[in-house]
Amino acid sequence: MNINDDETIDYVYKVVVIGDSAVGKTQMLSRFTKNEFFFDSKSTIGVEFQTRTLNIQSKVIKAQIWDTAGQERYRAVTSAYYRGALGAMLVYDISKRESFDHVARWVEELRVHADKTIVIALIGNKADLEEKRAVPSEDAMEFAENQGLYFFETSALTGDNVEAAFFKLLEEIYSVVS
Ligand code: GDP
Repeated sequence: MNINDDETIDYVYKVVVIGDSAVGKTQMLSRFTKNEFFFDSKSTIGVEFQTRTLNIQSKVIKAQIWDTAGQERYRAVTSAYYRGALGAMLVYDISKRESFDHVARWVEELRVHADKTIVIALIGNKADLEEKRAVPSEDAMEFAENQGLYFFETSALTGDNVEAAFFKLLEEIYSVVS
């Protein structure tokens, strides 16, 4: 359920989306906040965050979801980006092994810069590209389990599991902070 009345908001949760360039971070975000997918990507460059207001356990939560806006290309994601973040979506591309190989580095980055209690979801995006799969689900599942992360495979293109992944993360944040 979506609510648009700012007056009724109980909590604002900052969530950061991180991961290698071109894994689909921006598209995940626009799928979740606007239910849109842009074939002409990067139309949102420069936009710092987008929001969606929703209900969790009868509370009104405003999810403020931050996009790196391409900073990760220069390894220049700053600690300001992580400041105050209660959740992180760590995205890789299931068709690009390298993007998964870098996931450990991103977790390290979170451990250094983000709050200790941050809730992290590992997201294997582009699940629609099954015929090009380069990362077995089991590998990611094992990594997630070892690191205490939630794991989802999503497709920003079809919308598959995007909603479920964000809701799970926001529900976990709710249970941590309330
Ligand atoms: P970012 O650099 O991580 O923000 O990645 P973008 O969101 O800009 O997406 C990079 C490219 O991957 C674009 O060409 C998108 O259209 C494409 N893309 C993003 N998500 C998906 C997906 O779920 N499936 C497929 N097939 N392509 C995707």
